Formats: sequence, structure tokens, C-alpha cells
Amino acid sequence: MANKGQIGVTTENIFPVIKQFLYSDHEIFLRELVANAVDATQKMKALAASGDCKEEVGELKIRLEADEKENTLKIIDNGIGMTEEEVDKYINQIAFSSAGEFLEKYKDQIQNIIGHFGLGFYSAFMVAKKVTIETLSWKEGAKAVKWTCDGSPAYEMEEVQKLERGTVITLFLDDDSKEYAQKARIEGLLQKYCKFMPVPIVFGKEQEWKDGKYVDTDKDKIVNSVEPLWAKAPSELKEEDYLDFYRTLFPMNEEPLFYIHLNVDYPFNLTGILYFPKLKDRVAVERNKISLYCNQMFVTDHVDNIVPDFMTLLHGVIDSPDIPLNVSRSYLQSDAAVKKISAYITKKVADRLEGIFKDQRAQLEQKWDNLKLFIEYGMLSDEKFCDRALKFALLKNVDGKFFSFEEYKEAVAPAQTDKDKKLVYLYATKADDQYAYIQAARDKGYDVLMMDCELDAHYVNLLERKLTDTRFARVDSDAVENLIPKEDKVKLEMKEDERYDLENLFKAVLPEGNDYYVTGDNLGAESAPILITQNEFMRRYREMSAMGGGMNFYGSMPESYNITVNMENPLVARIWEGKLSDVPPQGELPAEAPADAPEEEKNKAREAREAVRKAHREQVESFARGNEILHQLVDLALLSNGMLKGKALSDFVARSQKVVSDAYLK
Ligand code: ADP
Repeated sequence: MANKGQIGVTTENIFPVIKQFLYSDHEIFLRELVANAVDATQKMKALAASGDCKEEVGELKIRLEADEKENTLKIIDNGIGMTEEEVDKYINQIAFSSAGEFLEKYKDQIQNIIGHFGLGFYSAFMVAKKVTIETLSWKEGAKAVKWTCDGSPAYEMEEVQKLERGTVITLFLDDDSKEYAQKARIEGLLQKYCKFMPVPIVFGKEQEWKDGKYVDTDKDKIVNSVEPLWAKAPSELKEEDYLDFYRTLFPMNEEPLFYIHLNVDYPFNLTGILYFPKLKDRVAVERNKISLYCNQMFVTDHVDNIVPDFMTLLHGVIDSPDIPLNVSRSYLQSDAAVKKISAYITKKVADRLEGIFKDQRAQLEQKWDNLKLFIEYGMLSDEKFCDRALKFALLKNVDGKFFSFEEYKEAVAPAQTDKDKKLVYLYATKADDQYAYIQAARDKGYDVLMMDCELDAHYVNLLERKLTDTRFARVDSDAVENLIPKEDKVKLEMKEDERYDLENLFKAVLPEGNDYYVTGDNLGAESAPILITQNEFMRRYREMSAMGGGMNFYGSMPESYNITVNMENPLVARIWEGKLSDVPPQGELPAEAPADAPEEEKNKAREAREAVRKAHREQVESFARGNEILHQLVDLALLSNGMLKGKALSDFVARSQKVVSDAYLK
């Protein structure tokens, strides 16, 4: 006779609530039910091992059966089962009320935590209109019972015939959840949630190719791997095992660069394998490729609150029963256990990289280009990691030669220490565009680093803070003579109005839209006539604000360039003489009005001075525009900086042809 009752629940109408709250995450019911089956089977194993259960335990397995015609899904285990009293206690009383409490407590943040923590058995009602449990306990003399519940707080319990020990849960699926009776859907979910559960899970049969199609064999298909690689001892494993495992996790990905096997049981328990993927640029970076497991049960693939941000660039698995799952995500970060785990992982990753640096230097160099984004990002975002990484990070120069920080310092110190005893590290960001500058630096016996990674603008700032008495300068940030000043240079003396003339002379022929600071300098008769450079710090600020996204102060300013005119260059000298004879220095300006003169008189005097200045400036400008060689020199300098474009470029080509034929044919 059926035994009817009311489930001991305080919250009425809990099922509509469950469904509503968990709307987007219905599928996790499967993980919950399979996890319960895993628990029951493992308890059985423990009973057998301890001798408490004397009977033959048999092969412990979990089986799933999906029936599309009947719209049912069964989860069958041969674990410990439940007696009638246990069903009453665990299912009717505890499970139901804990589901109720759970919802009460986490109402506000339920969307956040649902990925971490399920509702246990009752999550079945997210997809089923009716659920039955048929179960036979392992205990001697136990009677099999069947529990039926249609989603209201009323249930039925009756004795049934069941010969095998264990539990069969049958879900009679809701009309809007029919998908869970489909083989492919369940296969997908098993792959996602149950791939590494520690008990064999059978779903369907192995297939074979016969008479032109796939047919089922008699052999059960086991969908999970009960002893995943991370649960094995590292000493038993070879490199190939790790690579194979990576392929099963990420069949579409390129081979990883390196891996690291985490394995600790004190003061917390954590295992896992992390892979360093090839990272080429920020845009293509895939995050959230680390899955978090709890005793081989999939929890989430969002570990961003558990490991430092840069670690989310790694791929792989971490498994820890010590990461609290029933708390909100924002709480996780401040949890003491999580902090320890996070610090441990960071330390292990640094240890591993240092080991690679020491023992596999050639490999590290070979893979550096694909690894450095990770390391630079780590150094920029994590102080501790940065201090460790200064020992194993590499610097690469424009010839593709690698150095550790220590090696580099030693290599360049003799030639690249400036008058203030500061080391100057020169770097290029684009080998082609900055070719002439790189060449000039090398001719002077300097080494030039390649800094072409997207993060390098920030990285250079960081290194300047971290490396004592070291400063960085891009090769094109000044004339090579001034990059690493060795003694205090005597500045070229120019009169105020000469400087003004020089400035107007060049500005008249430079492209519009930028800011120019024109200065004269003595760089030697052999050196180039004009150098276009960009102030190191202005440029860095611009670059960093551009990376930051928004147009802030520095980002919205026009580009500014330093134009250094080499007054000792013979061509420049000739042009300057030409200017002097055509447009002699401006000379005296009309006098200013006395301080006590009326406003009107003052304005008049000011205008008169302004008019003389303007007339003079216009003369200089017209001289400049009419001077083909000046145009030619400026354009050549622009060209070697990659700044000559469009009409200016085609004008230059036409003028060059004319200059060449004038010189040759006349
Ligand atoms: P939890 O698993 O978090 O304890 P559940 O609501 O999933 O919560 O389950 C409540 C209890 O019901 C379990 O602790 C267990 O004692 C019992 N139970 C659930 N499923 C099974 C099963 N397949 N076999 C044996 N006992 C089970």
C-alpha cells in the first residue's frame, strides 16, 4: 500500500521558484544527479574496503538511459541505496528544506553562484514534472522502496520489488525540457560536467562500422575517464602524456609551449595541470580555458576570482575540494583559503619558468615570442610574480639574440652608461621603420632591444621602476649623439631671432597638423642634415593613453616631433647662408609704448611691432617655400621616418626627378 505524505518544507510553491531562478542553468541538474550517484558508489567502495559490507560489491558503475519516446531520463547506480527511513530523512526532510533555505539565503545573488553550487537532488524538478526514486539499500534485510513526487510538496512512498542494490532515479521530463531525453544533448552534458568523474559512467553502446553504417555493439560505452591525468603522480608521467591530455581537453588548439603539474596536499589540497599556450597578441587571447573541478566533478570554467588575472591566460584544469563553492564569486577573492591557493599557483608557475630558464634555455628562447605576452602581463599585474620573473624573463635584441636581465646589464654597461652613471637601454619597436636609427646606434657600438609586443610601452615603464639606475630610450627619440650623453655638451648658441628664423624656415615646409620643436645643433659635418625624433616620454604617454582606450589629454594632442637641424652639415650651412643674404635678420623692432601711455597708443605700438615680425616671418617662409633643396632635405628626413605620404610623397618624387635632371643634364 502506498504511503502518502507531505514533504517537510516551509516555503510553499518552491518548484516554480526553483525553475524561475535557475532558468538559464537548468542543465546542471545532470551534474547534481550524477554527482549523487558517484557519492553513493564511492561510499559503497569504502564500505567494502573497510569490511563493513561483507557481500560481493560487484563492478561499480553509473548508467544513464534516455528515452525519447517516453520522454524520460534515468540515472542508475549500484551504490549504497537508501532505506525507507533514509529516503524520508534525506529526500523528504533535509534535501527539500535545504533547497528552500538555499533559495531564501541566496535569492539576490543566485545567478552568480549557481555555476558553483547546485541544488542537489531537487534540481531534478527544474526539468521534470515527475520524479521517481527506486532504491534498495545495501543494508541486510532492507526493502526496496519507490518514492514518487510530481513537483508539489506531496509525495508517495511504496514498497517495490527491486533485486539490485542501488538507486534508479527516473525523470519524467517537462514538455519544455524534452531535449534531455535526446542522446546527443545528454552526451554533450556528460562531456561538459562528468568527463572526469571518478566512477565509470555508461551511456549507450560502443559503435562499429558495419555494412556502410555505424551500429551499436554489445559493449557499454563509458563516457568518462575515471583517473584523469592530474590525479596521477607526476613521476609516472611522460611529456607525451601531458600533450595527449592537452589534445583531449582542447582538440582544436595548437600545441602548448610548456606545462606544469600542480600537486599539493598540505596546507590545502590541490591538483591540476596548467599549460602555457602560444600567445601572439592580446586580441587573439582566449581566457577562461581553465576548468575548476572539485574531486573530479566539474564546477566551472570561470576561475577569474580564484587565480590572478594573468593566470587566466593559461589553459588546463585545477581540482581542489578546498575552494569554497557555496559562496558568491565576489566573496571568493577575499577568502583566505582561496588567497593561499592563488599564491601557491603563482609561485608554482614562477618556479616552473625559472626551472625552464635554468635547464631548458634553448627551448625558452625558441618559444619566447609566444610566451612573453603572458610573462609581461604577469609582471605588470602581479608584483610578486614580477620580482620572480626578473630572474627568468628574457630580453631580445634586434639581431634576435637573447639575454637575461643580468646578462644584458653586463653586456651593455661599458658602452651604454651615461654621464650620470645611468645605464641607457636602447630599444626599437619597428625594425623596418626605425632602421636608420638602429643602424646609427649600432655603428656607435650600442645594442638595441626589440620591444614590439603590445604591452611593451607599459613594460618599459615597469622596468625603469624595477631596474636600478636604468633608463630606456627608443632609438629614434634623439640624435644618436644625444641618446647616451657622455659629458655635458656645450649647447649651440643661437640668438633669439635666429632661432625664430630657423623655426619658421622649417615649419614652412613641414606637413601641417603636427607640432614641431625646431632646434639647431652641431652634430658634425658628416652627420645627417635633419633629424626627426619624438620625445621619449611624450610618445610613451600617447601610446599608453591610446592603449587605455579613451581619448584623454595626451591621446587627443597632436603628434609632436623634435626637428634637430644639424648646422654643421654643409647643405644646411649653404641654405642658412642663402637665407641670411636673402632675408637678413629681422633686426630692431619699433619701440614699445611707455608704460604710462594711453591704451590706444600701446595698442598701436604693439601692432607696429607685430607687423614687422609678420612681414619678416613671411619673407622667411617665402624663401623656404622657394628653396627646392630645403624641401628636398626635409622630405628625405620625413621619408626615412615613414612620414611622407600621399601628395607630399608624389611631389617629392617629381621634385627629385627635376633636381636630378637639373644636376645631370645642365
Ligand atoms: P547533497 O548531495 O548535497 O547531500 P542532495 O539533495 O543531492 O544533497 O541529496 C540529499 C541526500 O540524499 C544525499 O546526501 C544522500 O544521502 C541521498 N541521496 C541522493 N541521491 C542518492 C543516490 N543516488 N544514492 C544514495 N543516496 C542518495
